[in-house]
Amino acid sequence: MTKPIAESGKEQKQLPKADLELVSKIAKGDTQAWERFVLGYSSWVLYRARKWCERHCGKPCANCGLALLHSKMEGRTTERREDECDDGMEIYIWIFEQLQKRVVRYSARNNSKLSTFVWRILNSREFYIDWLRWKYGRVF
Ligand SMILES: [Zn+2]
Repeated sequence: MTKPIAESGKEQKQLPKADLELVSKIAKGDTQAWERFVLGYSSWVLYRARKWCERHCGKPCANCGLALLHSKMEGRTTERREDECDDGMEIYIWIFEQLQKRVVRYSARNNSKLSTFVWRILNSREFYIDWLRWKYGRVF
């Protein structure tokens, strides 16, 4: 069994400094920093938005919005489908609005990365319930 490496000066250097800097800029309202964040996390958010949309809009998943955005991100251009549902885009925007508010709480606790922090939010039940509340306007 290997012993976990003790906290040392070397470990300290591994503190996700770049992540902390990015978040502190976002907190100050730096739009460039925010755009960098959006770019970095859009595929996760897109995935989450599509999953929620599929579960709630009642359309087959191929028709759930964001397909257009997804193609654009992959460098393809696609015609908008006529039967595409619009909810996906709303969810996508909602998630980023929430992340913008929550991400300022990131403090690199235990040297955790910003990506870990964001991942936890996106996959937490609490976050899903917040969204349900927003979507349906009632308590779950
Ligand atoms: Zn949908």
